[in-house]
Amino acid sequence: MNIDYTKEELEFQQGVRAWFKENLPADLKRKNQIGETLSKEDMVSWQKTLNSAGYLVVSWPKEHGGPDWTATQRYIFDSERAAAGAPIGLSMGIIMLGPVLMAFGTEEQKERYLPRIKDCEDWWCQGYSEPGAGSDLASLKTQAVLDGDEYVINGTKIWTTYAHHANHCFCLVRTDNDCKIQAGISFILIDMTAPGIEIRPIVSIDGEHHLNQVFFDNVRVPKENLVGQEGQGWTIAKYLLTHERTTIAGVADSKLNLLNLKETARTQIANGAPLIEDPQLRLKIAAEEIKLIALEYTNFRTLADTAAGRAPGPESSLLKVKGTETQQALSELAVEMAGYYAYLWKADETAGPAEFLHATEKYNFLRAATIYGGSTEVQKNVVAKMLLGLR
Ligand SMILES: Cc1cc2nc3c(=O)[nH]c(=O)nc-3n(C[C@H](O)[C@H](O)[C@H](O)COP(=O)(O)OP(=O)(O)OC[C@H]3O[C@@H](n4cnc5c(N)ncnc54)[C@H](O)[C@@H]3O)c2cc1C
Repeated sequence: MNIDYTKEELEFQQGVRAWFKENLPADLKRKNQIGETLSKEDMVSWQKTLNSAGYLVVSWPKEHGGPDWTATQRYIFDSERAAAGAPIGLSMGIIMLGPVLMAFGTEEQKERYLPRIKDCEDWWCQGYSEPGAGSDLASLKTQAVLDGDEYVINGTKIWTTYAHHANHCFCLVRTDNDCKIQAGISFILIDMTAPGIEIRPIVSIDGEHHLNQVFFDNVRVPKENLVGQEGQGWTIAKYLLTHERTTIAGVADSKLNLLNLKETARTQIANGAPLIEDPQLRLKIAAEEIKLIALEYTNFRTLADTAAGRAPGPESSLLKVKGTETQQALSELAVEMAGYYAYLWKADETAGPAEFLHATEKYNFLRAATIYGGSTEVQKNVVAKMLLGLR
C-alpha cells in the first residue's frame, strides 16, 4: 500500500533507505531476520550507530536532541527501518521514560537523564508488574516510605524485561496506604546498583533469559528521584502505557515478516513442490495479508491523530490487540511451513534451512505478546469503555 508522499518526503525516504543499506551490519540483520535473541552488546552498539546519525531518539523534540520530524517522517523512518531488516531501538528509555520526563520531570531530571538515554549510557527497565498486580496494576504493594531525604523501598517487581542489563529502573511504588488505591501510587527512578536490590532470572518458554523478578530490601532512593508529585504515579503510568501499546503493535515489522514468509514459501520445497503451491497455505497467507493491510489503515488513523496534535487514544489498544494477534498468526504460519524442522525446540544450525532456525522459539515467545503491555482482554475492556461507551 502506498500513500502520496510529497517530493520532500520521498527524498527523505530515499536518504533513510540508503543510510540503512550502508550502515546496518550484515550479522545484525541476519540475527534480526531469523529471530535470534540479540546480545546486550548487539543492541547497545546498534543504538550508538543510530544515534551517530541522529536516528535514535526520532520521536523526541529538537530541544532534547530529537530531529523534530513530522509524524509522517517518523512513519517513513520506521517503515524503512523494518524493511531494511533492522531491529527496533530500545523502547524503555526512549519511547517510555523520555516522554514521561519531558512531560512530568523537573529541569534537573531532564538535564541529568535525557542526554544519557540519547547517548545510550543508561539502560532503563520498567518496574510496574508485581506477583499480585498485573492487569490490576493499581493494587501494587511495593512500598516507598520517606525517611529524611530518601525513600526506603521494600517489595518485589516481576516480569521485568532486561533488568539484568539495566542500570536504572522507573518504578511504580505505593507512598500512601490511606486513600483510593490509585491515588497512593508514585513514580520513582531507582539506581539498579543501589544496595538491597536482588535480580533473579526467569527463563521464558523460548528457553531464553529476557525476564526477571527484582527484589527491593530497604533500598534507599534520594527524594529528588520522584517524578511528578507524590500520588501522581497513576496518571504518569497511564500516559506512558499509551506510548508503549502503540509501539508493541509492530505493523512495519510484521509487513517484512510476511514478505519473508512469502519468499520462503516460494523457495522451500515440500513433497516435491514449492510450499506456495499448497492452496491451503496460500489462503492462510492471503488472510493474514488482508488483516495486515487493515491494521496498517488503523495505524494511519493514529498517525493522522498524532499529526493533528491529538494523543493516541483507545485506537492504541485496538492496534495492540490486532497487531499482536497478527504477530502470533505469522509465527504460527512459520511453524506450519517449517514442518518437521519445527520439532526442534532450540535452534540447531546443522538441521534445516536458516529460515526455520528460530521458528519454534519465536512462536513460543510470541504467546506473551497478547499479555505484555496489557493483555488482550484488558485492551478490549478499554475499547468497550472509551470507544463504545460501555461500562
Ligand atoms: C514477556 C513479558 C514481558 C514483560 N515485561 C514487563 C516489564 O518489563 N515490566 C513490567 O512491569 N511488566 C512486564 N510484563 C508484565 C505484563 O505487563 C503483565 O504480565 C500483564 O499486565 C498481565 O498481568 P499478569 O501477568 O499479572 O496477569 P493477570 O492480570 O493475572 O491476568 C491473568 C488473565 O486474566 C485476564 N484478566 C485480568 N483482568 C481482567 C479483566 N478485568 N477483564 C478480563 N480479563 C481479565 C487477563 O487477560 C489474563 O488472561 C511482562 C510480561 C511478559 C509476559
